[in-house]
Amino acid sequence: MAETPTCSECHTHPAVVEDLDVDPARPWCLGCALVLVKLGDPILNYRLGPGGEAYEAELARGTSQTIPFG
Ligand SMILES: [Zn+2]
Repeated sequence: MAETPTCSECHTHPAVVEDLDVDPARPWCLGCALVLVKLGDPILNYRLGPGGEAYEAELARGTSQTIPFG
């Protein structure tokens, strides 16, 4: 049985994405990862876990909605 890591931010939900920019990689659940997308500081160097497709879809949507300055 595979063990799903728990989100390192809320320590509640199972992680769906791992931030590879830090060592060791930091697990994030979908909710916490999407907060970062909304804040404009999304995890871009990541590895998807189970359910991670939802993060990738929201990331693509969120970044395409970003209006550049000027
Ligand atoms: Zn979380």
